[in-house]
Parts: sequence; C-alpha cells; structure tokens
Amino acid sequence: MIEAKKLPEEYGSLVFGDKVMRERLPKDVYKAVHKTIVSGTHLELDVANAVAVAMKEWAIENGATHYTHWFQPMTGLTAEKHDSFISPEGDGSVIMEFSGKELVKGEPDASSFPSGGLRATFEARGYTAWDPSSPAFIKDGSLYIPTAFCSYGGEALDKKTPLLRSMEALSKEAVKMMKLLGYEDVNRVNTTIGSEQEYFLIDKDDYMRRKDLLFTGRTLIGAPATKGQEMEDHYFGVIKPKVSAFMHDLDEELWKLGIPAKTKHNEVAPSQHEMAPVFETANVAVDHNQLTMEVMKKVADKHGYACLLHEKPFEGINGSGKHNNWSICTDTGINLLDPGKHPDENIPFLITLIAVIAAVDEYAPLLRLSVASAGNDHRLGANEAPPAVISIFVGDELTKVLDSIRSGKSFKGAGKEKMEMGAQVLPHITKDNTDRNRTSPFAFTGNKFEFRMPGSSVSVANANIVLNTAVAEVISRMTEKLSGLAGDELHDALTALLKEELIAHEKVLFNGNGYTDEWIAEAEKRGLPNLKALPDAMPHWIGEPSVELFTKHQIFTKEELDSRYEILLENYSKSINIEALTMQEMVRKDLTSGIIAYEQDLTKEILQKEQALPGAKAALEGNILKTLDEASSQIAVKLETLKKDTLEAESIEDPLAQADFYEKKVLADMDELRVYTDQAEALIPDEYLTYPTYGQMLFSLR
Ligand code: ADP
Ligand code: MG
Repeated sequence: MIEAKKLPEEYGSLVFGDKVMRERLPKDVYKAVHKTIVSGTHLELDVANAVAVAMKEWAIENGATHYTHWFQPMTGLTAEKHDSFISPEGDGSVIMEFSGKELVKGEPDASSFPSGGLRATFEARGYTAWDPSSPAFIKDGSLYIPTAFCSYGGEALDKKTPLLRSMEALSKEAVKMMKLLGYEDVNRVNTTIGSEQEYFLIDKDDYMRRKDLLFTGRTLIGAPATKGQEMEDHYFGVIKPKVSAFMHDLDEELWKLGIPAKTKHNEVAPSQHEMAPVFETANVAVDHNQLTMEVMKKVADKHGYACLLHEKPFEGINGSGKHNNWSICTDTGINLLDPGKHPDENIPFLITLIAVIAAVDEYAPLLRLSVASAGNDHRLGANEAPPAVISIFVGDELTKVLDSIRSGKSFKGAGKEKMEMGAQVLPHITKDNTDRNRTSPFAFTGNKFEFRMPGSSVSVANANIVLNTAVAEVISRMTEKLSGLAGDELHDALTALLKEELIAHEKVLFNGNGYTDEWIAEAEKRGLPNLKALPDAMPHWIGEPSVELFTKHQIFTKEELDSRYEILLENYSKSINIEALTMQEMVRKDLTSGIIAYEQDLTKEILQKEQALPGAKAALEGNILKTLDEASSQIAVKLETLKKDTLEAESIEDPLAQADFYEKKVLADMDELRVYTDQAEALIPDEYLTYPTYGQMLFSLR
C-alpha cells in the first residue's frame, strides 16, 4: 500500500516518463527525445539507441525481464508479444540486451489480426513503430512500449495511427487559424481528453456461473429483481467497505502506471461505479484508458469481483458509458474552449466553438458511427443514455453569446490587439455558471465539450479521430475564407462568417431534455439523423462526405476506410451470433433444467397433496405449474424461431445485409424469447437455477 505522504514519489514509479528520462539520459539525447514528444519531429537511430540502453537498465532495475511492443489492433483491444532481454553468450551464460532498433521497430505477424481486406492486397507482415509521445511502462515483469501498428504497405492496422494523424491535422489547421488572428507564437495545438469510465462490479463466483456474462459480457436472460434503481439510492451513495478496498487498490495500481485517477464514486445503477482521470493529451489518454480497463479487471479479480465493462450488462438497469471530455489547447497554454474573462482570448474561443458546432452537425453520422458497437446500440436511446440523435447543449450563458453572433453585434475591432468581445455577456461565463444537462450527447461543460455517447468497453480513439478531423475541416474552411485579410476587413469577414456558420448549423443546438419522445420528433423535423442501430449508420462511413473528409486530411485512405467498414460490420454480426448461440444454449440447458426440476417437484407435491387430502385443490401449486407450462410452451416456439433465423443469418454473404438481418431479426427473436424465459424464471425458486439471478448479482456486494 502506498503511504499517502509518499504518493508524489510513488506516482508513475513504473513509468519511463519525463522525470526518469531527464535523470538517466545524456543531456543532448534527452533534448532530442523531448523535442520529438512535444513537437512530433522525427527521431534519429543514434538517439533511439541511447534511449534503449537507459530504458533497458531502468526496466531491469524495476524487475522486468522482457519487453513488448504494445499496440491497438482494429479489434479495439490491445495486443502484446513479449521478448526477453537475454542474449546467449556462447559459453552458456547470457547478457541482457536491447537495441535502438528493437525499441523503434517490431515485426509481429499481422495475419491473425483483422485487416478488413487490407491483408488480401498486401503482405501479411505487420510492423509496430515506437510512439515516443506515449511513455513506456512496466507491467507484470515486462517493459511495455506503446507502438503504432501498420501493414507492409504502410496502411494503418490500428487505432493509434489514425488518432495521431487526426491530432496532427487539427493542430495544423488550428495553428493556421491562430496565426491569422495574430497569435504568431502558437506552433502546436494539442487535443486533450479526459475519459470518465463507468463499470459494474459483481461477485466473481456469480460471474463464473453465467455463460452469457462469460461469453458475451451481458446477461441474455434474467427476470428483474423486485428492486431496481428506482429508489435512486446508489448514485454518489456511501461506498461499501469491500468496494472501497477495490477502488483504493485500483487507484494505486493506476497511479504507479502514471494514470492520473482522480474521482471515484457510485453510479446510478446498483453495483455500478465510475472512475474519472485528470485529462491528458489525447494519445496518452487513449492509451491510459485502455490500460485502465485492463487494470480494473485485474484488480477486481484480486478482490473476488468480476468487473463488467459491457455497455448494457443488465436489462432494465442503466448501462455504462465513457464520457469523452474533449478540448484543444495551444502550446502557449490557451485552452481554446475556455471562454475566459479576458476578451482578447475570446476570438479564438468563438471560432473554435462555432467550428465544433458546425463539425458536429455536419458530420453527425460519423460521430454516431465512432461509438457504434453491438453493445452500445443497447444503450443509446434507452432511457438512461443519450439518444442516437446527436445534438449539442451549450447552456444559457453561451446561448446569449450565440445570440449576439447571430445579430452580428458580437465584437468590435480586429487583430489580436484590437479585438474585443461584446463585453456585456462574456465576463459572466465562468465554469461554475455552466448549467448541467445530463441528457445531451454532446454538452459544453465550462471549458470543454463532453461527448457522452461512447460505450464503456470501446476504445475512445474512434470518437476522437472523428471529432478532431471534423473540427480540423471546419477550421480549415473558415481560415481559408479569411486568409489574406487584416484589420477591419478581417473583422467584417469574421463577423459574417461566424454568423453564417452558426445559422447553417444551429439546428444541432438543443438545450432541453434529450430523453423525451418530443425531442426525437422535433429532431426529425429539424432533419437531424437518428441512426438507431449500427447497420443503419454504416453506409455513411464509406459515403462521399466521409471519404472526402478523411482522405483530404490524410487520416484514412479509401482502403483504410473500407477495411474499417468491413471489420465493424463483421464484429457486429459475430457479436450477435455469439449472443444468439449462447442464449439458445443457456435456455436449453440451464433454464430448462430449472424448469423441469421445479415442475417435477410441483407435480409430485400436487399428487401427494391429493393423496393425503382427497379433494384438495392445490390451487397455488397448480397455478404456478400451469403458468410455467404456458411459458415453457412459448419458449419452445420462440427458441425454434431464433435457431432458424440464426442459421439464416450465418449464411448471408453481404456484410451489411448480414448485420442488418442480425439486428432486425435475430435480436428481435432474442427479445421475444426473453419475454417468456424471464416469465418462467420469475416463478422458479433460486435453488432450482444453476445460475445466479439479477437480485443475487446486483445486490450482494458488501
Ligand atoms: P464534470 O463531468 O462534472 O464536469 P470535471 O469538471 O471534473 O467533471 O471533468 C470531467 C473530466 O473532464 C475529467 O476527466 C477532467 O480531467 C476532464 N477535463 C477537464 N478539463 C478538460 C480539458 N480542458 N480537456 C479535456 N478534458 C478536460
Ligand atoms: Mg462529466
């Protein structure tokens, strides 16, 4: 356990970060690495060699015998292959070696990772390339080196590469904009991300006894407990002692890995919790979120829990998301989404704000797709999560600012020195005044936007790739229109441009309750897309606006887009297929054995009662037996339909048609079957069931 007063020392003790590098690297090497990290410049091999030596020594001192290139293939998970540092000497002894070449480049076989067709046209070989901007760390006796993963032909086979590209693109466009506004000293703009992570904890033994949780991450059958979340007694509630011990351990493990875990609390649903870190550069934040999910599972296991990261583990109970807090900040320290008190800073803020509004409206289908998965589709649009319609909440204060832009009286003067906001509104905007709207999928929260649609289990890389690129595009479009202008001309053009963009995109603004049916109807009138399921949204990914956007900013080539299209659809269909098969098996074996055993005992009981007490009605037992029999007859019918449709789904060749069939038929069959399985289960005493019930799983934590 880390002593509280030793925390600053222990924090990041397993990370080869800036502090360690400054201590251990020769000055010129440190400078070169630092420059690479801060400004993204290329790193020479001699520098890499020097870093490798220091890294190896540090890693061995800290107990590592192996190193691994750690990467994020398109499965959305992480991947690793470990090599030891040993090098045999010929006399039976070994020395520990690690070269700059080994640090910089790895060659894992790419052939078993999904490539979405990229593999057919290119070699199976894949390369991992060191990402110096995300620090290496030690875990389970290995040195982990964050890397990008690409094919022999250079196509990105991972999520990190396009994320880094999108950060570059946004930086490039935002720097141009800042220079135009007179901020000559800005040379880089950084995307910052804080991703709040929701999760469930349940007893590990309970978890092990449910095939649905083991194989699919969510419960496929299960009658609701007689208590749900209606008492609203869990959110921010007192943390139970065992859970608290878990959270404490989790914090420590994360801190040692340099992950700035900050906030922890109980969430709305029973057994649901949240951890929020302090924000970091997008690339590091995404790596850290991937690690966080892994550490959560590991620490949970140590404490006798299973950590559920699925978006909707329990029917009728809130699902889990991952709020993606997003902003951009210049290398001179200006948060471009901070309204600030000083009017000078507000011109960049206004442009950024309008650019985000325009980007979110224009590329809403892509944002929707960036969070699409079989799991998250169960959450979006359910009444506890944002709907599948994307809208932006800006709050009252910013609405006033937008009103003044619309009326064209927003600011006077031009150029950095002279520009001034219509001061009457802005000084009042402080972080604390921003009101809350928990129902909005995309909300302004004082000095950042919070994108609330990402699911709890997915990498947030996709969401930020889309967001960064879309905003880069709008900023680029705006800067182009203003380029070459100065003084009054710039001022007039800017005023007109902000107004024009706002009017064109204000349909995406909505400050009301996003969970209501009225809003869905209103959104339709406004022409906002409502892409409920992944297959509905998927064609947008390879549509013309998407291809144009991503190829223009060099985030994805057409082939890279196609490959992701295929993988996402395939993954979706496979997930539902596994669910359908698991459900069939659980119903046929586990639930049915419970039904039979209980029916037998009921029948025996009724017969015995009649013998012992001629004329006895056995009404209660009889009614239960009858209802159970009716439910099981329906189960038999629905099970057959599900079986038939699952077989049909498996035989469909076109990936989009297949995904669509899984969504429209197989999922619907599963819902229908579930009505009767849950009816039956509700009648059966717990001891007749081979698996734990909702009540047991959700309310047994201490
Ligand atoms: P709330 O969601 O209640 O507004 P916080 O203000 O604590 O909570 O912020 C939530 C998350 O947003 C945290 O992870 C925090 O680090 C992150 N965050 C704060 N400022 C920024 C920023 N400028 N860019 C990105 N994320 C940020
Ligand atoms: Mg939040």
